[in-house]
Amino acid sequence: MIPFIDLQAQRRRLGQPLEDAILEVVRSGAYVMGPQIATFEAELAAFGQAPYALSCGSGTEALLLPLMAWGIGPGDAVFCPAFTFAATAEVMPLVGASPVFVDVLPDTYNLDPARLEAAVAAVKAEGKLTPRAVIAVDLFGQPADYPALAAVCARHGLKLIADSAQGFGCTLGGRHPLHWADVATTSFFPAKPLGCYGDGGAVLSKDARFHDLLVSLRVHGQAVKSDLEGRTFEHDPKYLNMRVGMNSRMDTLQAAVLLQKLTIFADEIQARNAVAARYAEGLGDLVRVPGVIEGGVSVWAQYVIETADRDGLAAHLRAEGVPTAVYYPVPLHIQAPYRDYPQPGGLPVTEAAAGKVLALPMHPYLDADVQDRIIGAIRNFVKRNG
Ligand SMILES: *Cc1c(COP(=O)(O)O)cnc(C)c1O
Repeated sequence: MIPFIDLQAQRRRLGQPLEDAILEVVRSGAYVMGPQIATFEAELAAFGQAPYALSCGSGTEALLLPLMAWGIGPGDAVFCPAFTFAATAEVMPLVGASPVFVDVLPDTYNLDPARLEAAVAAVKAEGKLTPRAVIAVDLFGQPADYPALAAVCARHGLKLIADSAQGFGCTLGGRHPLHWADVATTSFFPAKPLGCYGDGGAVLSKDARFHDLLVSLRVHGQAVKSDLEGRTFEHDPKYLNMRVGMNSRMDTLQAAVLLQKLTIFADEIQARNAVAARYAEGLGDLVRVPGVIEGGVSVWAQYVIETADRDGLAAHLRAEGVPTAVYYPVPLHIQAPYRDYPQPGGLPVTEAAAGKVLALPMHPYLDADVQDRIIGAIRNFVKRNG
């Protein structure tokens, strides 16, 4: 079986410097909030064209922290897609707020701005929940339609979060999602385009005070610079708790790994785009290949095709030694913990896509010969079975 994502090829490329960086942390003893954390945050911010970057425990907590910072809670509505990983919608109930599920566009699987506008109007008309924020997802690695989504948010006074767990590094007209969003979040789960060797996440933002608040929330609501303005505290401010926070620190070890991976990330994004182009060229006449928003550059967390006999094709590929995956077979608005939350107008595009999508092997080290074998196996099956 060829690998679905080949993390070992990347590890071999990074070689000794990666192992040295890990060993340096082990020997230093600075396992929590060591110096690599601040260095990594600065480099991540630079890569993502962000004024501020905060590392944290996971991509899930990266979504939770800004909701906490804005005081979003019971009675509040946060709009999001249902064709996404559970974490996108999970953070709303975690703060007591309600997700409101909105359908996606059929070509990009990203939030449909017109459906968002209609959903906000429906929630306002019903008058039970207060619209507060939108979480757009850069699904499978490509940017959502941020100019249009930001316009809806501006009209209704909503905060906009870019859940870029799969899409960190993606751009629209050369700009990262944070250009339009209030906050962009990402995950460093190993299989994401920029992954570490465990769990980790980050929140990118634009406002110094807001970033400061996230710094506080990340470590138990501890006093930060802005809390100490105009007051004196004669002890370590670590033990002055200003608000209810949590522990969402990322390990120093993960920052050390990510600093190495960042040095090749731009090159890997190019390699991913070359792989995607080869799939489109080899398959575009026979199956539905992904559409990319105009001016968008995807980081191709996944390469997802659509066919009628999805399960037949997956079984055929498995027999040929080609692994595939289905993201996401059951959309969130249908799953038990989420099905009672509002879904104004329904989600027909999401439901149709969930029955047809199939993700193919995708990573920057997929060589052309192996990829041509995958393409050949798909062509044989589709030609035979229509
Ligand atoms: C992976 C993922 C997350 C959660 O990230 P974790 O680091 O696993 O907590 C959130 N949103 C999306 C869209 C994801 O794909």
